Amino acid sequence: MIVIMRIDCSQDEISRVANRIEDAGLKAYVPNGGGRIVVAVVGQSFPGLRDALESLPGVEQVILVSKPYKLASREFHPQDTIVDVDDVAVGGEGIVVIAGPCAVEGEEQLLATAQAVKAAGATVLRGGAYKPRTSPYEFRGLGEAGLRLLAQVGEETQMPVVTEVMAPEDVDLVAQYADMLQIGSRNMQNYVLLDEVGRTRKPVLLKRGMACNVQEWLLAAEYLLVQGNDRVILCERGIRTFENYARNTMDINAIPIVHRLSHLPIIADPSHATGKWYLVPPLALAAVAAGADGLLVEVHPDPDLALADGPQSLTFENFRLLMSQLRPLAEARNRKIAIPRARVKP
Ligand code: PEP
Ligand code: MN
Repeated sequence: MIVIMRIDCSQDEISRVANRIEDAGLKAYVPNGGGRIVVAVVGQSFPGLRDALESLPGVEQVILVSKPYKLASREFHPQDTIVDVDDVAVGGEGIVVIAGPCAVEGEEQLLATAQAVKAAGATVLRGGAYKPRTSPYEFRGLGEAGLRLLAQVGEETQMPVVTEVMAPEDVDLVAQYADMLQIGSRNMQNYVLLDEVGRTRKPVLLKRGMACNVQEWLLAAEYLLVQGNDRVILCERGIRTFENYARNTMDINAIPIVHRLSHLPIIADPSHATGKWYLVPPLALAAVAAGADGLLVEVHPDPDLALADGPQSLTFENFRLLMSQLRPLAEARNRKIAIPRARVKP
């Protein structure tokens, strides 16, 4: 249920609505910021509450939201949400390109990649320090040493950094180094992790579970939002289908569907969606054509030698080529490739 307050309502009237909701044993949320003031009631409602709320002073309308997610829904927040990742705005006019290696392997590899992707137009650096690998025998990341390198190279190249956090007990540590926390596909339904990340105020890149539908994904976002973290960016990274030529099937549908159902920005990851470097550029272009707010692309100085996801990693040259193809496409969508604002970090 969502309570829309009158434009001229007072703070007292908002508090009264919130108190009435809490008295009924439910939870009330009053989002910060301008626009229409809306209170969402989260929990099982009961008959009569709607009428009771509608008759309170300052209330314009009470809407029953049929969807199980409330705070993630467009009804709750009609305007697009823009998430600032340090000096980069995600969800606005600019298409944000996040790029970097699958895994942080060492300083030389990371610095060279960061410099190359930045020069080509990427604005956020990625790199995994805690890697969820299908096989326990594969490289699982450098851990805190990788986080340290990522933060150091981000600083050196003046780019905010995103990295995955896999365990609730690692959230504080990863948050010390990262500008944005990534929740990986395998952890999208790790509700304890979602709770913990939701308690931070860091931007979150929430990847879609590879076997999850859009509703389950938006409910995972709801876990973060309900903890008070409203800086959520969704990332379509391909889902499992019967087709097995590519690693996954990129669900292009999900991009306009999410824009319709939710106010949260959505970016696309053609690297994990395809698993093959030569499929990355066409799928990246398709995602932007479908309205994606950004891309996440894996890039490596020498993909043949990569410790993780080499077959889907672009060389520097192929990344540059992709960026040059993206620019006219972004313009065709009345957008442009994002550039950073004045930097917030010293
Ligand atoms: C990654 O971004 O390196 C990653 C492991 O992605 P996903 O969770 O989408 O598989
Ligand atoms: Mn990867």
